[in-house]
Amino acid sequence: MRMTVLASGSKGNSTVIASAETRVLVDAGLSCRELMKRMAIANEDPSALDAILITHEHTDHVAGLAVLARRLRIPVYFTEPTHRAWVRQMTPRTAMTYAKWLEHVQKEKEARAAQDTVETAQTADTGLCELSGSIQIAAASAEGEDEDAPEATIKRDPASLPAVEYFQPGTNFSIGDLSITPFTTPHDAADPCGFVFESATESIRMAIATDLGYVPPNVKRALERIDVLLLESNHDLEMLKDGPYPWAVKQRVLSRVGHLSNHATGEFLARDYDGSATYIVLGHLSETNNVPELALLSAEEAIRERGRLLGNRVMLAQQNAPIAPICL
Ligand SMILES: [Zn+2]
Ligand SMILES: [Zn+2]
Repeated sequence: MRMTVLASGSKGNSTVIASAETRVLVDAGLSCRELMKRMAIANEDPSALDAILITHEHTDHVAGLAVLARRLRIPVYFTEPTHRAWVRQMTPRTAMTYAKWLEHVQKEKEARAAQDTVETAQTADTGLCELSGSIQIAAASAEGEDEDAPEATIKRDPASLPAVEYFQPGTNFSIGDLSITPFTTPHDAADPCGFVFESATESIRMAIATDLGYVPPNVKRALERIDVLLLESNHDLEMLKDGPYPWAVKQRVLSRVGHLSNHATGEFLARDYDGSATYIVLGHLSETNNVPELALLSAEEAIRERGRLLGNRVMLAQQNAPIAPICL
């Protein structure tokens, strides 16, 4: 079995998992052109891919999805809520700023007032009626404007894919000789998940667990007996706190549906991890709020505390280039 991390980090994620007969791409978070380039560098033949699997609909996981899937003419596997969220994301909509919306409401109100002066004057309880009426009109107009706006005219369905297959977290499915178990992850997306891959013939297990706010019991269970583990080590807590992100974004990253810090990943490795992996690949590092050396140090220290995990080799995935394929 083989794992080739083409890209991992807050700016794009994509990994090839290959068994003897099957090859899948997990996430397509770079442009199609860049993904093709990286596959060429890593010696992964794109035409040999059987499917694309999507963990969740955030842009750093789906940026090149539609174009790549159509180019390669291969099916895309999602959970149904993730597919729906992705389709919504791909459907162009006109956005209205709050200020513009207020202006719009005011204009509607004025137009209505001008038309119904007499009627309005006759209605005694104007305050409430007028207010609720305006809101209804505004809501209806906002919707209408969205539909009628020329920008919303979709010339070609941007969310069309050669084929879509649904899976459910917790329910095992197969593609060729690859057995896949998706597991739910705590993250602020429609239906986020990680994957465990097992080759029917080689009894080797590989897992991808990135984009999770903490490590809940179901993820701990999923990550037992894994030979190659791609695990998130997103940010250094101090760098995030002192960093340039707005307060709300910091809160989001730190939340239970955000990302694993170096510290949280270290805690998992020190306390809950069973130590069975030959390779632990640290991934989804933030370029702004982490330094690869800090992530590595934290994970290695966690493992060092547990002597029996010395067989584990810790590596770093990269944002800007594929890492050498890991073959077992
Ligand atoms: Zn995400
Ligand atoms: Zn992500």
